[in-house]
Amino acid sequence: MSTTEHVKVCIIGAGPAGFTSAIYTARANLEPVMFEGGGAVVEPLTLPGGQLMITTEVENYPGFPKGVQGPELMTLFKEQAERFGTRVRTADVTDVDLSSRPFHVTASDGELLADAVIISTGASAKWIGLESEKKFQNYGVSACATCDGALFRGRDLLVVGGGDTAMEEANFLSRFATKVSIVHRREEFRASKIMLDRARHNPKIELITNAVVDEILGGLPRPGVTGVRLKDTRTGDTREMKIGGVFVAIGHEPNSQLFRGKLRMDPSGYLITKPGSTATDIPGVFACGDVADHVYRQAITAAGTGCMAAIDAERFLSHEASGIIPV
Ligand code: NAP
Repeated sequence: MSTTEHVKVCIIGAGPAGFTSAIYTARANLEPVMFEGGGAVVEPLTLPGGQLMITTEVENYPGFPKGVQGPELMTLFKEQAERFGTRVRTADVTDVDLSSRPFHVTASDGELLADAVIISTGASAKWIGLESEKKFQNYGVSACATCDGALFRGRDLLVVGGGDTAMEEANFLSRFATKVSIVHRREEFRASKIMLDRARHNPKIELITNAVVDEILGGLPRPGVTGVRLKDTRTGDTREMKIGGVFVAIGHEPNSQLFRGKLRMDPSGYLITKPGSTATDIPGVFACGDVADHVYRQAITAAGTGCMAAIDAERFLSHEASGIIPV
């Protein structure tokens, strides 16, 4: 006889979407088991708590008029999910078999059978794609100002990107750096007006438009990054710039590799759900948060769809128990 544990709901991923689905499914007596990552077996390494763990101040999450630190918010989410009986496993899911039910989930700490699966694996930072960028990771190249900013005190720094993340990272880095240059490939910024204005009014920040980082320069292990070669996107001209660290802030990609060939996804890898629902193309498998959202990508929208996934899973399982399968 198999000793593999059989649960009603398995939640993969522990950001705002995953924890909200955990709170709701736990309160519906579905005794969810959540894999929060952190098993150190998948690349890039997963971080329990998702992207909010590498965010400083969250100013736009309702209910926190004075703002809240990202990691603190995640700790509160986890506490609330566990209060209602969610079992959180610090392990990485390495494989899923969704071809028949119960679904089979393989993780770094063992296996599991689940009647319903909620996918909330989020998204990860994108990289420019230069060899030198890879070479200098942890030696002056980072995708997380919050994690690494303080290591770069007293240096001139560069942030790549033209969205809200780039503005936020640059503002944060200006606390430590002597100067922060934001390099953006176009003339117009994608960032919201308020974030862009904040960067524009920061005396330590300079904006460089119509340029890309063509090469990251330096030596290993010391001195690490010492400069970059910038390329003008209009003329193709290049110039070198002395820089003590490079922060890449060019957006994110969904963490959906595990489901490639198993679930429907768009060309960028975002899981496709039925409009107005979190149902994927496999009955009993639901997707919520950034892994299925390339439009809003906010903690609050992730939490909202996490709630939807829990309700969708609960209805699916109760309809099934009553013999009526919802379509
Ligand atoms: P984003 O909005 O997709 O912006 C990515 C930026 O990187 C764009 O300006 C893009 O240039 C540039 N880029 C992309 N690939 C590049 C490449 N290979 N080389 C050079 N530049 C490249 O991503 P995001 O800034 O991470 O923001 C994601 C979402 O989170 C947004 O909805 C944003 O509003 C939200 N967010 C909100 C806050 C806040 O409110 N506090 C903070 C952070 C993020 P193009 O413009 O030319 O495409």
